[in-house]
Amino acid sequence: MGLKIWIENGLVDQDDAKISVFDHGLLYGDGVFEGIRIYQGKIFECQAHLDRLYESAKVICLEIPMSIETMTDAMEQTIRANDVHEGYIRLIATRGIGDLGLDPFLCKGPQVIIIADNIQLYPEALYEKGMKIVSVSSVRNHPLSCPPQVKSLNYLNNILAKIEAIRAGASEGIMYNHLGFVAEATGDNVFIVKKRVIYTPPVQAGSLDGITRQVVIKLAEKQNIKVVERNLTRFDLYTADELFLTGTAAEVIGAVEMDGRKIGAGTPGAITKMLRQKFFEYARS
Ligand code: PMP
Repeated sequence: MGLKIWIENGLVDQDDAKISVFDHGLLYGDGVFEGIRIYQGKIFECQAHLDRLYESAKVICLEIPMSIETMTDAMEQTIRANDVHEGYIRLIATRGIGDLGLDPFLCKGPQVIIIADNIQLYPEALYEKGMKIVSVSSVRNHPLSCPPQVKSLNYLNNILAKIEAIRAGASEGIMYNHLGFVAEATGDNVFIVKKRVIYTPPVQAGSLDGITRQVVIKLAEKQNIKVVERNLTRFDLYTADELFLTGTAAEVIGAVEMDGRKIGAGTPGAITKMLRQKFFEYARS
């Protein structure tokens, strides 16, 4: 049996959930999206994700044709219709149907799609062993291009980076900004631990303002671990005691090898493991 998908104004069978070939989301990657976890039937950090979605939409001059309240209700309905208890929501707002030209103002109006499904990004063994990552040559969006804080439907830059990482036999790629500072991984934020202090690049270095990142910073501070947001270089990552990534799908995952250098002891570190555990507890509290 297929899923029930929210599209336009209500739920339809997966096979009937279709968009036009003239939708600018398809023609140009013109739109915004969110990926959100469902833990124990509840939408994780719902308000933060919706704020980010509506802010991303504002930056690209796309007016989502639903209030935050209606959107939340539609998400709840989609979760219930699919009986998802532990899973993932993909929330999409496309520019809508237009012509073959770029002009978004000729489009008929945004299309909202909500998908609720299960998710498992990495096998459990990878969390225990820790992942291999590499630096990639694709540079994170310049702040004067589509701002990196916009979670847009156009992920090609990150996809090129992901291809490089996979081709190099790694699970993730570290992307740098145009100044050479660490921005983020292709779908996750980056943290290091050095002498029991946690460091992560500021959002202005070209990261998405990750919701998992925000939660992990709070959880670390609650454990009296200092978190410093500052620019990081390759040197900082290679010489870190611990390195971990955060994201909705990956949650908290340690990286133990980068560009052929062993990170720390070559296994996920104590602070990484502790934060993964605290995150698990927080998500289910
Ligand atoms: N950076 C990028 C480029 C992402 O796509 C994501 C989301 N997958 C993240 C960071 C992590 O953000 P969040 O914790 O909100 O999922």
